[in-house]
Amino acid sequence: MIVFDLQCRDECGAFEAWFGSNAEYEEQHSAGLVQCPVCQSTDVRKAPMAPSVPKKSGDGAIAKLAALQGELLKNSRWVGDEFTETARAMHLGEIEQQQVHGNATLEQAKSLAEDGVPVAPLPLPVTPPSQVN
Ligand SMILES: [Zn+2]
Repeated sequence: MIVFDLQCRDECGAFEAWFGSNAEYEEQHSAGLVQCPVCQSTDVRKAPMAPSVPKKSGDGAIAKLAALQGELLKNSRWVGDEFTETARAMHLGEIEQQQVHGNATLEQAKSLAEDGVPVAPLPLPVTPPSQVN
C-alpha cells in the first residue's frame, strides 16, 4: 500500500488516499475514480510531497532509540574492528574490563556468545568516530 497526499482546489485543501501502487493511482486517476472527499471533483492532483523528516527533533521511535543508545554508549569505548579480540581478552581477564563497542561480523558475534562472552547487538548502526566530521 502507498499513501498519497492529494490536492483538490485550494478551498478543499489536501487529503490522503491509499493505493496499492503508483500505477494503481494513475489508473484510477485517469479513469476519474479518484475524488475529492469535499466536493467530489475528480480534478485532483498529487500534492507536493512533504519532506519525511520529523517535525520536531526528538520525535518518533528512531529518535528515542538513538537517544537511548547514546546514553548506553556514553561510557563505552569505540574499538572498531578490534571488538572481537578486545571482548575476548576482557572476558579472559587479559585486559581491564570496560564497556566497549565496535564492529563484529555475525560469525564473530556467534563465536563470542559460544565462548560465554556477553555481547549484545546495538539497536542502531553506530558511525565510527573516524567517520564523524
Ligand atoms: Zn474538492
